[in-house]
Amino acid sequence: MIVANWKMNGSKASIHDWINTVSKCIKPNPKVPCVFCPPSLYIDFSRKLIDDLSSEIKLGSQLVNAEDGTALTGGLNSLMLSDFSTDYVLIGHSEQRTFFNEQANQTSNKMQNSIDAGLSIIFCIGEPLDVQKQNGTNNFLATQLEILKGLNLDNVTIAYEPVWAIGTGLNAERRYIEEVHQFIKDYCATDLNLKENISVVYGGSVKLDNAEEILSSSHVDGLLIGGASLNPDNFSNIYNLS
Ligand code: PEP
Repeated sequence: MIVANWKMNGSKASIHDWINTVSKCIKPNPKVPCVFCPPSLYIDFSRKLIDDLSSEIKLGSQLVNAEDGTALTGGLNSLMLSDFSTDYVLIGHSEQRTFFNEQANQTSNKMQNSIDAGLSIIFCIGEPLDVQKQNGTNNFLATQLEILKGLNLDNVTIAYEPVWAIGTGLNAERRYIEEVHQFIKDYCATDLNLKENISVVYGGSVKLDNAEEILSSSHVDGLLIGGASLNPDNFSNIYNLS
């Protein structure tokens, strides 16, 4: 899976251009979903463009709110996303955890409701710099992964995104990524009793010039790309490496 996370970027014109260009330039591989996550306001606009072109692009939301009823001004729930034929939703992104102070119980609520609504989930985890410096990455990730216990993970992909690599230009090195992805897969097999290997994608300052090396690891099942996904030619070239 190769995911474009546009964060708070874009306009109708730039989304139109991106969907057109990427639909033309990628060589679709049915085993490698190409997922576009625009700001949620543009979900319906993007859905129509994708459908009109019969494009292979899948649509993802960057946002879903935790649901305790309907009294949440500005809220967006998983059923609304399904209603607009959204395929994927990002949950647990470090920017949501940091800027919206998202707690584990809210992440867990979002996961359960999105599974119930039939959405596929990209569940993001990753350690901050101080944790990495103190060799605490595995313990930190194990705590984040705990909320998956008891959930049906058939349609869940994990995105490993070290917080210190997001938007900084400092991608993690291939060897480090491999070790962490192996840890995540082992944790899912042993602590979550998953029989099938779960897909784990990497995110954090992926660009055209480092994507091939990162993807060449057998433990890396795809990429989650922020800044470098905004340019449709760049993004298509990265997709075509996979
Ligand atoms: C992200 O948005 O999750 C991300 C990894 O961003 P960037 O590629 O810009 O580091």
